[in-house]
Amino acid sequence: MPPELIDTHCHLDYPPLSDDIAAVLQRARAQGVRQCVTIGTSLERSRAGVLIAQRFPQVRAAVGVHPNDCAHMDDTTWAALDELAAQPEVVAIGEVGLDQYRKTVELARQQEVFRGFLALARRRALPVLIHCRDAYEPLLKLLRERAATWEGIIHCASGPAEFIQGALALGLHISFAGNVTFPNAKALQALVPLVPDHRLLIETDAPFLAPQPVRGQPNEPAHVAHTAAFLAQLRGVSAAALGACTSANARRLFRLSDRESV
Ligand SMILES: [Zn+2]
Ligand SMILES: [Zn+2]
Repeated sequence: MPPELIDTHCHLDYPPLSDDIAAVLQRARAQGVRQCVTIGTSLERSRAGVLIAQRFPQVRAAVGVHPNDCAHMDDTTWAALDELAAQPEVVAIGEVGLDQYRKTVELARQQEVFRGFLALARRRALPVLIHCRDAYEPLLKLLRERAATWEGIIHCASGPAEFIQGALALGLHISFAGNVTFPNAKALQALVPLVPDHRLLIETDAPFLAPQPVRGQPNEPAHVAHTAAFLAQLRGVSAAALGACTSANARRLFRLSDRESV
């Protein structure tokens, strides 16, 4: 029996995953991945994610708009997202945050939208699923201005040690994706020991960022097993222990029940 795993961040509405979600979930299950959270990057994709979660009980959804796509949100978009966030399949607000790597949307606009999503997460009592790339200081500053602690995740962990430490001090969980397995990812691997067991999560970010040894192929939830095995080795624990610990964390944070793992 492979260790039990939960993929806390994938995009099942993206091709090629969306072509045959049942087969994707079956392959995931064979690797021990009992539950997945599919993440919204726009209103339309958030809607698609909720529909997928309605079809498959082992999938839950997060709704949000990616910082690179947040330029054209208006009152109608916010109202629709607010309504979606109330659906029983929705377990988080995301992915939302700040991205200064691509710079497709100006930072001030990203900050304004991110503040709106933080308010939505609070109003709906949901954890916030954060994307942060090359905007580490502005992100921590914004979170600290709003509250002393946050329930949520820094997904696809990256950045300096100070960022991870700052996020942990705010109460956030840290999720590692497939890029942590890359041989040249020494700086990223150095972040792993900073995260205590009870704040550690794993994800694929599928269909992106496939880990070693399937790097370069389309990623899918089954491949979170490679990332889990790599992290277990790095932390000096068994794959079963790492799976049990990260799955318990995901279940607690997203309020998932065992009943949903079919
Ligand atoms: Zn992201
Ligand atoms: Zn993502």
